[in-house]
Parts: sequence; C-alpha cells; structure tokens
Amino acid sequence: MAGDTSTPPPPPPTTSSTTSSTAKSALGHDPIYYTWSTAFTLLSAKYFNTPTPPDLARNYFRERDILREEKDCAKCTADVKYLLAYSPIIRFMKHNIDLLGPADGSASINETNVRCKRCEGGQSGGWDAEYGILLCANEFRNQGHLEDTLAHEMVHAYDHLRFKVDGVNDLRHAACMEIRASTLSGECRWAREFFTRGQWNLTQQLQECVRRRATLSVSKRPGCVDDVQAARVVNEVWDKCFTDTRPFDEIYR
Ligand SMILES: [Zn+2]
Repeated sequence: MAGDTSTPPPPPPTTSSTTSSTAKSALGHDPIYYTWSTAFTLLSAKYFNTPTPPDLARNYFRERDILREEKDCAKCTADVKYLLAYSPIIRFMKHNIDLLGPADGSASINETNVRCKRCEGGQSGGWDAEYGILLCANEFRNQGHLEDTLAHEMVHAYDHLRFKVDGVNDLRHAACMEIRASTLSGECRWAREFFTRGQWNLTQQLQECVRRRATLSVSKRPGCVDDVQAARVVNEVWDKCFTDTRPFDEIYR
C-alpha cells in the first residue's frame, strides 16, 4: 500500500536527472520528491523512529506512482486479461453476472469495462453501474491482491443485478454490499489462514476483518455522517448479510 516504506523503489529514469529539481514537469508533478535523498530520509525515519517531514512520504509515493504509471497500468491490464480467462473466482463471478444480466451481454464484465488507472487516495478499486470497474493500478502488491479487488467489485456488480440495491444513497444497502464483497472476495482470507493455527477463534477474526473494512467503506459514502454511524449501520444488517453467500454455496476463498 501507499504507506509501505519497506522496499524503496529504484531511482527514477536517468532522463529526469536533467530536469531542474524545482521545475514542475509537463504533467504537473514535482520530481523533487522522488530522489534517493528522499528515499533515504523516509527509510531513516522508519528505522530510527525519527519524525518524517509532513507530506514528504505522500509526495514521494505520488511521484513514484506517476513515473511508474505506464508500467503499472500495462501490468494491471495484462493481469485482468489473465484472471478473466483463468481465475476460478473471477470466472465464477463473471458467469453468475452473465446469468443475471440481459441476454445482449450489456451487463457483462469484460476487458472493455474493467479499467486500470493510477489513483490517489489509497483505495484499490471501485465499481459503478454505468462505468464498470476501476482498478487502481498503482496500489497492487501482486496479482493475488488485484484478484481479490476485482472479485470484490464483481460482487458489487452481482448485487446490483441480483438485488437491485441502491448502494449510493441507501447506507444499509451499501453496508450489506461491503460485508458481502469483503467476505466473498477473499480479501479477509489472511485472517482465516493466519488464525486457523490454534489459539485464535477463526470465525471471530474473519468477522472482525470484514466488519472493519465494511465500516471504513461505508464511512466514506457521501450520506454517512461519521464512522460511528457507519459501524451502527453495519451492525444493523450484519446477520442477514454476512450469512448471505450467494452466488457461492459457502465462503470458499
Ligand atoms: Zn466495496
């Protein structure tokens, strides 16, 4: 994720070294932040627990993402193509969305309506009934992470067709969609795998992960006042939505 400073990226392409460090590029970004000295400052702050100058990390990673944009998007697009063809969960969700959608395939999820873009704001994806699925190419750690995000957004597309939900204006619908998407996509899988080995209550950890992610997502909706309201709405619909695993027979991810 954007805040992970554990693996500093390589320096920018040598072409940028000829740019004045104070000049903004044609794209409006500021290469001053993406330098080895910035990387070193961030690393030092992490290892020696010293304060980081405000905005330094954010600007550094923003600059890095801009420089990597083309590469990130090409990788993301190739991953989408591969997953649509070979991933069991993506193929399963695609099949079930096609069964619900009109015969002309206008609701189908395919390479034309899954778009890879660079995002700012820390989210990894989004779904919109008109637009389709957005994947934030600069946010993915690996193909598995992208697969979870794509599956999450496809659960939203499925819910829109299957239950005619209004996840934009109705917070209870939004909460239900987020609970189902986090449970079924596999993005809380780590909680299940890690905590299976003994002392932790497996179901409890999965539920805490789903609850946290759903509350965070609902709290960002325009109609939501704060995270207290988000948590309350998630609670209200929890029993009904956590146990609703359609189109899966059970939580299998
Ligand atoms: Zn979501």
